[in-house]
Amino acid sequence: MKTALITGITGQDGSYLAEFLLSKGYKVYGLVRRLSTPNYIYLEHFLPKITLIEGDLRDQASLNHAVKLSQPDEVYNLAAQSFVATSWKQPEVTSEVTGLGALKVLEAVRHFAPHARVYQASSSEMYGNATENIQDEQTKFRPRSPYAIAKLYAHWISINYRESYGMYVCCGILFNHESPRRGIEFVTRKITDGVAKIKLGLANELVLGSLDAQRDWGFAGDYVQAMWAMLQQDKPEDYVISTGETHSVQDFVQESFAAVGISNWQNYIRQDPQFMRPAELFLLQGNSARAHNKLGWKPAVNFKSLVTMMVNADLERLKEKHRL
Ligand code: NAP
Repeated sequence: MKTALITGITGQDGSYLAEFLLSKGYKVYGLVRRLSTPNYIYLEHFLPKITLIEGDLRDQASLNHAVKLSQPDEVYNLAAQSFVATSWKQPEVTSEVTGLGALKVLEAVRHFAPHARVYQASSSEMYGNATENIQDEQTKFRPRSPYAIAKLYAHWISINYRESYGMYVCCGILFNHESPRRGIEFVTRKITDGVAKIKLGLANELVLGSLDAQRDWGFAGDYVQAMWAMLQQDKPEDYVISTGETHSVQDFVQESFAAVGISNWQNYIRQDPQFMRPAELFLLQGNSARAHNKLGWKPAVNFKSLVTMMVNADLERLKEKHRL
């Protein structure tokens, strides 16, 4: 039986990955930070099957302890301050957790489980406003937020540990991926939650920032399978994971309203500059040919199915909450 340690297990990707690894027969450990109110909402249905270890990405001793205790074959470093907008409001915390946190995970593995394979959650945000319209593993990084800069540090230190110490470390440069478990402040989930509220008569407008930004949106459940596949290869490499399709925020809005049968969507949208980024990224579109050719990975859920899945999940959740 293989053992995996997942940081960020309470988040969107961590919960999908834990489910996926359990289905493959792994023993799963998850690092959780101490909160005044525990947030195990996405873990509840499999909580008895996993082991949680208290720790924080800012605390080397806690990471050392987690690695020593779990003795993992694979470590998935998914923990991060992951919301780009917050990275301007909390640049230091973002740098410490999202950037230096990765170094601390690598150090814990280097000292206490040097043969473990490590996955580092890199991000398409590192490309910034890329000079190429379609980005792959060779595209130059031009990060445009404190989050992206912290991720780029984590990315390069991971590559450096692979080259310096011969560790098996892979960075997955993942393009946006969403699901009903996406944090409510992220634009896709804000849209599907807002549209569901409008449909149920719980709200009459949806306030958004830029409608023009274009992203390559996939389904988180598909993307965690690529993370695992990266750690099963003969040699470690970095991979772009994306759908290769791009859609604007406006497309996402239209598709969400269409999913609940509302065609005059413009009547419900208000734009507010407070939701615009200080430095926006206008187009992200990934080329995941390497992952396709070497890992045999490709996404199963398309854009329309993803939007419908998210809107339906928000409708069900709100109906239950408000007893509708
Ligand atoms: P998420 O839902 O925001 O989850 C982040 C996780 O990190 C949560 O479990 C959170 O714990 C944990 N965390 C935050 N600060 C921590 C700390 N100081 N110590 C320990 N744990 C901490 O993010 P996600 O969407 O699942 O993304 C997973 C990873 O992939 C992140 O690194 C993200 O930046 C990266 N990524 C995501 C995307 C995407 O589109 N989703 C794309 C590219 C890369 P709490 O529950 O306690 O807050």
